[in-house]
Amino acid sequence: MRAYNFCAGPAALPTAVLEKAQQEMLDWHGKGLSIMEMSHRSKDYVAVAEKAEADLRQLMNIPENYKVLFLQGGASLQFSAIPLNLLGKNNKADYIHTGIWSEKSTKEAQRYGDINIIEAGTKIDGKLAISAQSEWNLSKDAAYVHYADNETIGGIQFAGIPQVEAPLVSDLSSSILSAPLDVSKFGLIYAGAQKNIGPAGLTLVIVRDDLLDQAKPEIPSLLQYGSQAKNESMVNTPATYAWYLSGLVFEWLLEQGGVEVMHQRNLEKAKLLYGYIDSSDFYANPIFEANRSIMNVPFTLADDNLDKLFLKEAEENHLLNLAGHRSVGGMRASIYNAVPLEGVQALVNFMDDFANNHG
Ligand SMILES: *Cc1c(COP(=O)(O)O)cnc(C)c1O
Repeated sequence: MRAYNFCAGPAALPTAVLEKAQQEMLDWHGKGLSIMEMSHRSKDYVAVAEKAEADLRQLMNIPENYKVLFLQGGASLQFSAIPLNLLGKNNKADYIHTGIWSEKSTKEAQRYGDINIIEAGTKIDGKLAISAQSEWNLSKDAAYVHYADNETIGGIQFAGIPQVEAPLVSDLSSSILSAPLDVSKFGLIYAGAQKNIGPAGLTLVIVRDDLLDQAKPEIPSLLQYGSQAKNESMVNTPATYAWYLSGLVFEWLLEQGGVEVMHQRNLEKAKLLYGYIDSSDFYANPIFEANRSIMNVPFTLADDNLDKLFLKEAEENHLLNLAGHRSVGGMRASIYNAVPLEGVQALVNFMDDFANNHG
């Protein structure tokens, strides 16, 4: 049986997608080989790759003046690729801090340029929140403004898209495809696939045409957006299986009714889990309501001596990977697109039983 998997990443994938991949594993479309064993330049594989891009463009309503790149190296390699491509002559950028991932991206960017850090973490009514944009000290001549839409570890998310003059760059690793997004508001969007897209090994970059050819000339061609765009993300061998499987996820999302439908389901899941946590004296979530992530829900138990037992009993109930990130402890339930409402209901039922037995 398949358990409910609340892992933050690599995360749950839709069962229907895995079944399709299983069916096609040994003999892809009657060709007598698996998709993994094909040349990335073959007509068959190129068609799979192009279909994945077309479906993603439809799902996200990506305007024509944006390129979609299917790269490797994870979101973390983009922490370097972004400054190396976009810093330009001013060599200056604004980075908004809301948690661990935005801080990590800043650390990399500081190796290449003059980075203005905006601490946007604040407290409202004793809860962790993101400060209003009017309180940010944005610089006048930044080449771009970077932020992490959803902090996967802290479970804190922007309530809307910041309004800035410079091109806006967002790490959407854990929130892409969870809700409709106006891509035209961004200069660049990036996301590691292993949270809400597909398997690890693939990184999506969606970049506006005018930002393609500003890279410092000495950087590796694999990291140059212009060169990757010209070569359809095939400067070298791409992550062919991860690209194919992500394509199956995009097909599945379209079958479900698209991102709008997924968003409604995600809101329902989040409401169920946060609603239960708020109603309980045994569990707590530290985030101000407007900034609560609908994808990653951290929570603590009233007595952290019970953490180990909670995780053990959860696993016995087929509820997996609920431990919080090693840097923060506590619990975290990641409820990405592939985690169904029934999974969240099973978690809430278990949490309630556990609280009654041990509270
Ligand atoms: C997981 C994650 C990353 C790191 O992704 P890698 O693909 O492992 O490099 C970066 N940013 C956010 C918001 C993440 O959730």
